Amino acid sequence: KKGRSKSSSAKADKLKALVFPEPMQEFDHLTSRYGVSRRLANNVAEQGFTVPTEVQLGALPLLLDSPSTYLSESGQPGLTSSIGAIDLLAVAPTGSGKTLAFLLPLLHKLQQEKRDDAAVDRHISALILAPTRELASQTVNEGRKLSKNTGITITQMRKGMRFGLQDHDNAEEEESSEYNHSSLVKADIIVSTPGIVHNTTSESENHLALSKVRHLILDEADVLLDPLFRDQTLEIWNTLSNPKLRVSMWSATMGSNIEALATATIAARRRGLNELGKT
Ligand code: ADP
Ligand code: MG
Repeated sequence: KKGRSKSSSAKADKLKALVFPEPMQEFDHLTSRYGVSRRLANNVAEQGFTVPTEVQLGALPLLLDSPSTYLSESGQPGLTSSIGAIDLLAVAPTGSGKTLAFLLPLLHKLQQEKRDDAAVDRHISALILAPTRELASQTVNEGRKLSKNTGITITQMRKGMRFGLQDHDNAEEEESSEYNHSSLVKADIIVSTPGIVHNTTSESENHLALSKVRHLILDEADVLLDPLFRDQTLEIWNTLSNPKLRVSMWSATMGSNIEALATATIAARRRGLNELGKT
């Protein structure tokens, strides 16, 4: 309302220049331009995938977030993103390869993070929510293939499971804890329906176990945000307290529910960005 200052419109121009990365036309670019590990790139090749699908060629450069993927106003690559990471809403038809589009950048980020900070090993880093157990299980299968030999673990949370208290170094202590009758779920990436997380663990338990989660992925986001799942999904989202949290939403249809939420998320993040910009 105060009117735009010169610096805020300069910032807007800079943002505009940053948000259109070049599409990734071939998977070879994973290693050559985006610094993806050879292991991870090989796992993609082993699936027999040769060319990225449309949603992949658009989303992968955004999510891999490499400085060289951003074009400057003069069309030259090389501007470093001041955003660091982005929130994304991707809409693409069923069968268009959305699973790989979110798993691959996630695995890449987690590999980098593990390399930079060994302490992340003990915590759940990513949560993928899906509307059905079957879909969650398919995502885990694809995740296992893609993460082969990368050191990143992915597992499905099933009924009766609780989050492992990963900051217990002493296994015996865990053995005698109150959770010893239910299996503990521990991995870098947890895939689950919202109901399992919501109904089998308490809010305080979620707060603790999920406090380091930096990546939240809503698969079939339109369904996760329809009246049946909405409250559970948002409640889980709200327990994720890490300020570095990045959210991506994936859907086959553009519903008003996801659009409103995406807009609100982006607006909140932008306010955060402006705050950062002032210091
Ligand atoms: P969506 O989630 O968009 O409905 P999926 O991620 O389930 O689609 O992918 C549909 C199918 O396409 C899967 O069998 C997957 O293995 C395959 N697939 C994904 N990416 C590619 C690719 N780049 N080339 C060929 N097939 C692919
Ligand atoms: Mg899918």
